[in-house]
Amino acid sequence: MKAVQGEGPSAGRQCAFVRLGGCNLSCRWCDTPYTWDWTGVGDSGVAHDPRRELTPMPWTEVRDRLLGYGVPLIVISGGEPLSQQRRLLPLLRALKAAGKAVEIETNGTVVPQAEVIELGVRFNVSPKLAHSGDPESRRLVPEALSAFAAVPETAFKFVCRDTGDLDEVASVVDRYGTNPVWIMPEGQLPSEVAGHLAALGDEVVSRGWNLTTRLHVAVWGDRRGV
Ligand code: SF4
Repeated sequence: MKAVQGEGPSAGRQCAFVRLGGCNLSCRWCDTPYTWDWTGVGDSGVAHDPRRELTPMPWTEVRDRLLGYGVPLIVISGGEPLSQQRRLLPLLRALKAAGKAVEIETNGTVVPQAEVIELGVRFNVSPKLAHSGDPESRRLVPEALSAFAAVPETAFKFVCRDTGDLDEVASVVDRYGTNPVWIMPEGQLPSEVAGHLAALGDEVVSRGWNLTTRLHVAVWGDRRGV
């Protein structure tokens, strides 16, 4: 899908997205439950049908479709794409060989393999806070967070609702060195994103962190891309 990157350091850049199915977490406010929630455990309570939501495709076809968009940036998202990182390698190599910048959106729970790091992709790591509903032992994996923190260009993007969440972010940063920090408002509707942004902005600035909106929500609301 051709779009613009909606979040983080590259927000606003034209890009093409590929979204992979499957996730090793189950955040209750997840905005892409159709990639993994086959039983309705998320806030929506909807059990999605993997036969309808997932489309098997050879990596060469994915490559051709992504390159066909003619954009400089490819964003690989999910679900949790690094759960499939070994199988992603041929695609990543082909995209880099074609001169594309590549960003991988990840929840930061899977240790990135050296072969992926060496390709020079950017990891947009989004460690989950307690309000995700995932137990800490699943959502914060020390060896994975430390590995990402050692990779240049990695950005750590925390989904927050209020200033209380920022203390939790600071604790994660202290423990795992997850810098630089980007704070992103939770919300699937423009009004929710705007409200959380307004609640967070001053405190984010005073803590010396970066702030990002969710451009795709501001523009398209909760409408799914195709
Ligand atoms: S890690 Fe991301 S894709 Fe997985 S459940 Fe949480 S918000 Fe959804």
